[in-house]
Amino acid sequence: MKRKTITTVGIITATLSVGLVTLNASENTGAALAKTKAVKIVKTKKLSGKAYRAKKGYLYKNKQLTKKSWSLKHHRKTTFYAKKQVTVKKPNGKKAIYFYVVTKNHRTKGYVWRGNLKRYVVKKSKKATTTKKVVAKPTVTKTELQSLINQSPDLDPTGKLLSLSKKDYQTYDDLFDTNFNLTNFSDTGVFKHHQAKLYVKDSAMNASVAVAIKKWNDALGKTVFTLGTQGNHTMTVKLGNNQENDQEDNWIGLYDRKTVLIDQTDFNDVDVGNSSTADPDLKQQYESLGDQVKQNKDKYDAQKASISASYQSQFSEINQKVSQATAAERTALTAQRKQLAVQKRAALRTLQDAYSQKDTVLRSQRSKVLKQLISKQHTNFIGAVIMHELGHSLGLDHTPYLADMLFANGNLQGKYTSANVKYPWEEFKGPEVKQGIDTGILSQRDIDRAKLTEQLGYW
Ligand SMILES: [Zn+2]
Repeated sequence: MKRKTITTVGIITATLSVGLVTLNASENTGAALAKTKAVKIVKTKKLSGKAYRAKKGYLYKNKQLTKKSWSLKHHRKTTFYAKKQVTVKKPNGKKAIYFYVVTKNHRTKGYVWRGNLKRYVVKKSKKATTTKKVVAKPTVTKTELQSLINQSPDLDPTGKLLSLSKKDYQTYDDLFDTNFNLTNFSDTGVFKHHQAKLYVKDSAMNASVAVAIKKWNDALGKTVFTLGTQGNHTMTVKLGNNQENDQEDNWIGLYDRKTVLIDQTDFNDVDVGNSSTADPDLKQQYESLGDQVKQNKDKYDAQKASISASYQSQFSEINQKVSQATAAERTALTAQRKQLAVQKRAALRTLQDAYSQKDTVLRSQRSKVLKQLISKQHTNFIGAVIMHELGHSLGLDHTPYLADMLFANGNLQGKYTSANVKYPWEEFKGPEVKQGIDTGILSQRDIDRAKLTEQLGYW
């Protein structure tokens, strides 16, 4: 899919530093000037018109300094431009330097003692700054990029590959696609501000969708997927039927531009996904109940043996006596032995009843936990299938690595994958580990690829 190329235009603004330069005020204060007697001009010198401001003193209308027009403390924000420098001799014989200044519009002008003026550096207005259009260039050449790709693990963009410039990603998008099995599978508008809103049409899938959303968001460290409503969503998750869909047979999940489909038959079969990782607490409960069943049985067996042994010794004792007894004694002993047998049966029955009762309770608890376990496994498995499909929505195509959520067992004839693949495969590559779809854990490769597709603008 051909993507839009955007030219970045940046504006460079020249900013001048703003600061005040203070003149050396060595003369006596202007305020002390005689008002009544005029001063004499000794020397006049032209100035270049630099800007000044004053916080105190006076602006005199005339160079004889007899007429004040402004008290400068009320005009602290007025900028004056010095046009002339006038050296005067005061009636007391001392010399002083005054600047002839004007305001910007020349409506106010006059003389100010130099000691009261401070240089003022005018901040250039934005209008005055020069703007320059900058067309971004890639920061790496194609060869350099290929070399970076070669240094990265197979199909796993790492390091610098994830922090290039926007222009790099725009320029070399095809190279990225092919080297990391990426394709922009989603319709425009599925991701707005890097976020997709999912509407779960069949609420039975809520728990599985929640699993998928949380894991992707946690892995990417941001809210990429969020729940929407029927009236406000960009993506739909719903049940479908793989028999009715002619794109591919035998799928459990499918992503089609803006829709995640989960096969209804698989979804309703709680045994689907029974090799998935389930809640560890439930698993522990299940195993613990199994142990308790066994312990109950062992205890029962031991107590049964103990009861039997105890009666056996009593029987032996009686039998011993019988062999040496008189006829009358023998009748009594026989009755005693009969009585003992009745007691033994009763003791064993009591023991067995207690055992059976406990066994029934434990087994029923265990089967309840097993049901929860299977349901949770199923939920997690469907959640992982949805994670896989959401991976497609982010622009990730399949990989041959088992641990990846985006693993697929082949890409023959483009049947299971798009054209943008690095190489074809018929069998998995790498270590024979538990499948991502069963562990429900996104691999680092899944996460890195998703970070790259964000840079490529696929989401
Ligand atoms: Zn897939």
